[in-house]
Amino acid sequence: MRGTLDQLIDVKCCIRPLRAAGPNLAAEIIGNALVVHNYGHGGSGWSLSWGSAEVAVGKALSVLPREIAVVGCGIIGLTTAVVAQRAGLRVTIYARDMIQRSRSFRASGSFTPDSRVALTEPAGPAFGDLWETMARLSWKTFRTYLGLPGNPVEFHDSYGLSDTPIEKRHYPPDPAITDSYATKGVPVQNSEFMHLSDRIKDIVPQAVDVPAEENPFALPYAQRSSQMHFNFASYAHTLLSEFFAGGGRFVNRDFHSPAEYGQLAEKVVINCTGYAARDLWRDRTIIPVRGQTGWLVPQPDANYGVRYKNVSMLSKGDGVVVQNNNPDIGEMLGVGDSMELPDRSGIEEGLRIMAPALVLKGA
Ligand SMILES: Cc1cc2nc3c(=O)[nH]c(=O)nc-3n(C[C@H](O)[C@H](O)[C@H](O)COP(=O)(O)OP(=O)(O)OC[C@H]3O[C@@H](n4cnc5c(N)ncnc54)[C@H](O)[C@@H]3O)c2cc1C
Repeated sequence: MRGTLDQLIDVKCCIRPLRAAGPNLAAEIIGNALVVHNYGHGGSGWSLSWGSAEVAVGKALSVLPREIAVVGCGIIGLTTAVVAQRAGLRVTIYARDMIQRSRSFRASGSFTPDSRVALTEPAGPAFGDLWETMARLSWKTFRTYLGLPGNPVEFHDSYGLSDTPIEKRHYPPDPAITDSYATKGVPVQNSEFMHLSDRIKDIVPQAVDVPAEENPFALPYAQRSSQMHFNFASYAHTLLSEFFAGGGRFVNRDFHSPAEYGQLAEKVVINCTGYAARDLWRDRTIIPVRGQTGWLVPQPDANYGVRYKNVSMLSKGDGVVVQNNNPDIGEMLGVGDSMELPDRSGIEEGLRIMAPALVLKGA
């Protein structure tokens, strides 16, 4: 894989909508409308989209509507609309932006269902079961997109590389820190984040050590895992095509208050406004978590990913995505930061760090 600066064609920045208690899937009455929420998926919105949509649509179906409105057309809104159509409903999406202009299009696009999805204390133990249901449903549904034209969903090998033997990274709680989300309104250390991926390790491929004689890289230690990822352009095209072929309507509209939901013609509305729900719905439990990605020219012959010293590169159909997760503060990176302007120097630094990991043995 080439990781040189001349290949860098874009740097995108985005905010993960971390909600302390996990995604909001509650229902409430606004005017004459039943509003079911489906927002606040942190760094896991793509990964949980199908399962979360099933839960939200299930609640909407409880009042037996024939038609519903979905507000928002990021990955959560569009998936929710398609799930509602598959349940036999007529669906209109109302949104300021279609998926290609939404924050969802500025993610990196791997199956990461427990990335900054909730904080242990406010989410409570019951969230684990709900998460597992959503993650398993999503995993199953994504697999139905494997091998379709344009490869909207694919698996690639992803290598973790190191100069020293690889150990799992731990961020134990720091007993000297007495503050927490409860006192500060934002998490103050890594150990506050909920980690749930072990619950689905029976279906999601786990990392295995690569024996020295099979390690294709010049660095001495390697682990390999098969990773599912999404190609944004073709995935969005596939989903939008299904939505419009199923008679879906898209209305470009900006909402300024919850009361406007109650004025829609549809009396059941699913609210999928992502990070914007923080202001629109005055949900102050949503915490911004800034992140950015660099994009290199697609390299179809390099169908793998590499991670080294907290930098990752993954070659996908829609480009080689680069993330620099330094400094090494785990899930805390970007917490509380709502600055959405890209910073190219961070990606340039990431490419410099990654350079030795891209050298193959004997090259
Ligand atoms: C750097 C980075 C990498 C990431 N990588 C991954 C990953 O690999 N895997 C993964 O699963 N997740 C990843 N995520 C997280 C993922 O991007 C989010 O969880 C997801 O995009 C949230 O989607 P959404 O549809 O809820 O919100 P959005 O994409 O923000 O969509 C919101 C929609 O609501 C509309 N809207 C908002 N306000 C209004 C209003 N007032 N009136 C009308 N319409 C409105 C918008 O126009 C838009 O259509 C990443 C995030 C970042 C920042």
